[in-house]
Amino acid sequence: MINYRNKNKFLHSYKQYLQLVNNKATFIDIARCIDPACVEQPWNRLKFIADEFGIPRVVQIWTKNPGDVLRRGQHLLNEFRKDGTIVICQLTVTGFGPEFEPRVPWPVDWQGIDMMIDFLGTPRALLWRYDPVIPGISDLGMFEYLVRNFAQRGITRAVYNRGEYGLELVRKRMGHLYHRIDFTLDKNILSHEIEQTGRDHGIEFLVLAEGEQLAKPLNVSSRGCWQYEWLVQASDSFPSRDFLPGVFRPGCICAPSFDIGHDGQYEHCHGCVYCFAV
Ligand code: SF4
Repeated sequence: MINYRNKNKFLHSYKQYLQLVNNKATFIDIARCIDPACVEQPWNRLKFIADEFGIPRVVQIWTKNPGDVLRRGQHLLNEFRKDGTIVICQLTVTGFGPEFEPRVPWPVDWQGIDMMIDFLGTPRALLWRYDPVIPGISDLGMFEYLVRNFAQRGITRAVYNRGEYGLELVRKRMGHLYHRIDFTLDKNILSHEIEQTGRDHGIEFLVLAEGEQLAKPLNVSSRGCWQYEWLVQASDSFPSRDFLPGVFRPGCICAPSFDIGHDGQYEHCHGCVYCFAV
């Protein structure tokens, strides 16, 4: 639950967000810094916001465990959907396994992924994140297996991204695994292999906007993941472009969204060794 002091701070930031999006284009991230499959806190906050301000226009789920997300949040999300909220999902699947992601379902939980696609109503509402790509550790054989399986499920959009390996926190979390990163690998070749394999199976891969600096030297397309075109494909009821507030998240072309999670919950999340959340 939200304690009194945090509640005021939380209310204040949400009101600021409402102003930014003209009180209408409300896009909630559940959640960027904690997987909502792991804890109740982001669900409590989502409910709190809806009770105080009305339901959001879009709820975007961020997860590595769609089965547990649905177990925790399906009921609430269904309530919102009855009143018109659009639900979309950014699903991260890397294929690293428990050495790198100790509490992420392994082997890949295709059953949970199918449940999520069913819940969303269309594979177009699910964006696959192949994130992070770690040179020397990301396995292109595994990647191709993932591409084939996502393609069979009708997924046509995906994004990939690089990690932040320079951070002391990440080096510490990775421990001996850090030495397996191959900094000599040509990132350009890796990027083009990812994009080409995707194209071969009908999946369009974009490098995330955080990779802007990467995109320039590499000559690959750098875009945001929250594109208007995606939302329109995900739901027939998404309004015209005029609905959007005309401002963007800093550093990318995504619509501004509000992250319902908060820091300090790494211990309760999946324990990914490359994580830079505190
Ligand atoms: S531990 Fe970090 S990287 Fe892993 S799911 Fe949680 S927030 Fe994401």
